[in-house]
Amino acid sequence: MSISPHPNFAQHLIAWHKQHGRHDLPWQNTRDPYRIWVSEIMLQQTQVAAVIPYYQRFLARFPDISSLALAPIDDVLALWSGLGYYARARNLHTAAQWVVTCYAGNFPQRAIDIESLPGIGRSTAAAVAAFAFGEQGAILDGNVKRVLARCFGIAGYPGEQAVQKRLWALAEALLPETQIEIYTQALMDLGATICARGKPRCDHCPMQALCVAHQTGRTAELPTTKLKAVLPLRETVFLILQQGGEVLLEKRPASGIWGGLWSFPEIEPEAILQTQLMQRFGVEAQRAKALEPLAHTFTHFHLTIRPLWVETTTPLVSKPGQVWLTLEDARGAAIPTAVRKLLDQLSIHYR
Ligand code: SF4
Repeated sequence: MSISPHPNFAQHLIAWHKQHGRHDLPWQNTRDPYRIWVSEIMLQQTQVAAVIPYYQRFLARFPDISSLALAPIDDVLALWSGLGYYARARNLHTAAQWVVTCYAGNFPQRAIDIESLPGIGRSTAAAVAAFAFGEQGAILDGNVKRVLARCFGIAGYPGEQAVQKRLWALAEALLPETQIEIYTQALMDLGATICARGKPRCDHCPMQALCVAHQTGRTAELPTTKLKAVLPLRETVFLILQQGGEVLLEKRPASGIWGGLWSFPEIEPEAILQTQLMQRFGVEAQRAKALEPLAHTFTHFHLTIRPLWVETTTPLVSKPGQVWLTLEDARGAAIPTAVRKLLDQLSIHYR
């Protein structure tokens, strides 16, 4: 079934944005594709308020694409530490190198070329091309899917290919002939500030009169949610090896969870602790204590981390891929949130 786009959708939205949209975010009021691109990547799966301080620190350290391309990946990950979804940071770094190598450092201007860079999907490419170069193109991120599904009464889980195809067709049919930058921002703002997932503020919405979900009392049903899969449970043991004020961190493999980040080493729960300590780290335990388990949920599974704190007095030696750091330096390294939480516990109990 095809859905006819409302002729006034774009005009309503643009008029609404002039008065009620967001105009002063740190990545707005610029045509610099680098700054826009970094913001779009950070904003994937992350709220504006959480992104702002990360964005500002990132831009202060990497003010342009060549500074990012030349930086060690560890520095990039350290600035991303706590923001989650670390593949975004690794892709950003790789894409910066591609732009320097393949485009002589000039960010590509067409969405079709931008989309060929690592970590950039169709919607993000269209947003960067619209904001930086005024290119006419549709966006369809999670917020926009919700707005369109509600406004036009499109049922079905938006992650399904057939539903997604309809939403893309609709997003394209709705595009205005001019003011693509304002329209694109307005669509994002409406989804983020008015047509919220839990409680849409229909009374303040410029689409109220034409919105199918609002008119038919189906805002809670649309967009259709995915049937919840039961996530598998996994467990791991983190070894918190401490000597004096220093702890041992190990670099994780580049792929897999927390790829490329520094973490406490994972050890085999079944194997004899003293043997593992000697063979892998060349130390002996003086004292050991099991700490409170920590729960962490990933997209595909729940992880229970059982931290085992071990104090050693053996002289410090680190092998490749390992580093001994003070608690403060460890906090400044590229570490995932779970490791940061454990470091906070250590600062209180095991100084
Ligand atoms: S009227 Fe309500 S449900 Fe419809 S787009 Fe606006 S906020 Fe969303």
